[in-house]
Amino acid sequence: MKISVVGTGYVGLVSGTCIAETGVNVACVDIDETKIEKLNNGIIPIYEPGLEDIYKKNVEKGRLEFTTDLGASIKDADAVFIAVGTPPDEDGSADLKYVLGVAREIGKNMDHYLVVVTKSTVPVGTSVKVKQAILEELEKRGEKIPFDVASNPEFLKEGSAVNDFLKPDRIVIGTESKRAQKVMQRLYKPFVLNGHPILFMDITSSEMTKYAANSMLATKISFINDIANLCELVGADVDNVRRGIGSDPRIGNKFIYPGTGYGGSCFPKDVQALIRTADEFNYSLDVLKAVEKVNYRQKEVLFNKLYKRFEGDLKGKKFALWGLSFKPKTDDMREAPSLVIIEKLLEAGASVAGYDPVAMHEAERILGDKISYAKDEYDALIDADALILVTEWSEFRLPNFRVMEKLLKSKIIFDGRNIYDPEELAELGFEYFAIGRKTK
Ligand code: NAD
Repeated sequence: MKISVVGTGYVGLVSGTCIAETGVNVACVDIDETKIEKLNNGIIPIYEPGLEDIYKKNVEKGRLEFTTDLGASIKDADAVFIAVGTPPDEDGSADLKYVLGVAREIGKNMDHYLVVVTKSTVPVGTSVKVKQAILEELEKRGEKIPFDVASNPEFLKEGSAVNDFLKPDRIVIGTESKRAQKVMQRLYKPFVLNGHPILFMDITSSEMTKYAANSMLATKISFINDIANLCELVGADVDNVRRGIGSDPRIGNKFIYPGTGYGGSCFPKDVQALIRTADEFNYSLDVLKAVEKVNYRQKEVLFNKLYKRFEGDLKGKKFALWGLSFKPKTDDMREAPSLVIIEKLLEAGASVAGYDPVAMHEAERILGDKISYAKDEYDALIDADALILVTEWSEFRLPNFRVMEKLLKSKIIFDGRNIYDPEELAELGFEYFAIGRKTK
């Protein structure tokens, strides 16, 4: 089989590479010429564990290529996947200009039957718009080439994207065409043979599934953050409460870790977009509106603790910040809680020395010289008034507290991910602040 994947970001690049791994010929397309040049020269523009090995292997085997030429990429293809970004519009709804732009390009260039698959996260009704855009272009050309649209939302997680794609919990495919279903069934057969199920459904339900999944996950996070804040007020420890509720299988112990609020390129925009979709149908998604509100508040919780501890006097103070990416094992900083905290610290007249195992380049691109960049986690601590831990990279879990106390100006830690033991830190003489925990 042969496919084209348009958009070589976190989703497109991982999907294309992993599908090539099953023996399919894949052309990955992007309008960003620099990105394509890098990929053609052996450089992967994103950090994703495990991606480099299978990328190299499939390029060497001649199954994976990179191009800016969408027209050439769909010649002889069985299917074309649209995996471009769907950022929030001004009102929070998903901006479809990139998706529909690609659909028009497909309509301008296709010359045989194709399954056009939306892999981007798109609101209900988008596949109809994709179909319409292609039909309009075909009409302009005076052509009547058959095609089908399908929806195949992606559930991979940055940081474990390759593993998630190769071993999905489920593959969701929305299509109303038997012909398209056959193509998709064939393409995903290697995954099904490895025990990963395909759930076929109508397109609208498939589009809805992705938003419902991310909204449910965001809800879990805001719920536990809300409970954590209450725990602090009543004198409970959210870590005990988390373990206490997580052992009930109806609740489950995953995704109920309190922190500094959810970020990243998906949850914030997808929650917003689903609220807007409901608004369009005159329905108010009240639970999700609260999820969003709690999340905005949570992104400031750590800063507020710090502000209170230093009695509002942050001018001239220096803070070490560990973890810049929005979560561990990725260099993605879109909507990262670290950015909110940094902005507030700078506004208050403090300076920040940041360190992240992989997101330093991305941080420099976004923040420039607003902060200083440490060469490792200990370097960031030199003469800092406190450490602020924002992202729980594994290398931050067991640091040498004896070394840390020598480097820090004062022995204060603000832990936004509850990764340290309050008792141990108290014994070592650290002042320790966490989220929803008894720390003294
Ligand atoms: P991204 O921003 O990393 O990548 C998008 C790519 O599309 C960019 O390289 C951009 O240059 C390219 N592009 C834009 N317009 C184009 C065009 N006309 N032709 C060719 N290429 C074009 O985005 P992403 O994180 O990979 O997300 C893509 C979609 O997948 C979004 O809808 C997102 O919500 C969804 N999604 C993302 C994740 C994730 O973890 N990042 C997970 C599941 C679903």
